Amino acid sequence: MEKEALVKSLKEQGLLQTPRIIRVFLKTERADFLPPELRESAYEDTPLPIGEGQTISAPHMVAVMTEALQVRVNDKILEIGTGSGYQAAIFAQLASKGVVFTVENVEELARAAGKKLARYKNVHVVVGDGSLGLPEQAPFNKIVATCACPATPKPWIEQLAEGGRIIAPVGGPYEQDLILIEKFNNKTRTQSLGFPCAFVQMRGEYGFQSL
Ligand code: SAH
Repeated sequence: MEKEALVKSLKEQGLLQTPRIIRVFLKTERADFLPPELRESAYEDTPLPIGEGQTISAPHMVAVMTEALQVRVNDKILEIGTGSGYQAAIFAQLASKGVVFTVENVEELARAAGKKLARYKNVHVVVGDGSLGLPEQAPFNKIVATCACPATPKPWIEQLAEGGRIIAPVGGPYEQDLILIEKFNNKTRTQSLGFPCAFVQMRGEYGFQSL
């Protein structure tokens, strides 16, 4: 499939809706974030391996999370799970007058993604345990996890700005549901987006412990 056909299909399924998000999807080459031997499959709607046992999320997942996050142009965003860097590239363009901090615990992946993201001046790749958030840069208007969480880590809620939103896959190690947390008047409201998913597990202090 070509990029245009993929975007058309995501629109027809109602997963991509917002014009400026659609424009950013059309402008961002998923192929650039894949190992060379997989570039042919870049616009198939499927997750793909990116090394170190990790995957780049399927385009429909990136679409759903991006729509649900409602990124504004000035937002300060925290992403947990840089992976290939593709999703951070999408956020960087949507928050073109803001900034994106993306945390990855696998150093090799962080380094590779950092090179690919160098052209987006408002993205900072940080190596570390994103389950702890990034207290030195808090508060964030948007926090998005692209790895599975057993529960929403408390530090993320503390580091969320007033009026902010968290989107994260929360549940068991093999199946999760996408949840949305909003913060108003220092209170939070959590709701399920009713979207089953299967992300790679988050490690670290608030993550799944490896066997
Ligand atoms: N958003 C990515 C997909 C990420 S896959 C993309 O667009 O390609 C999930 C990533 O989360 C993996 O790279 C994994 O190494 C990372 N990860 C797992 N636990 C983590 C933690 N505690 N802190 C930061 N990153 C973590």
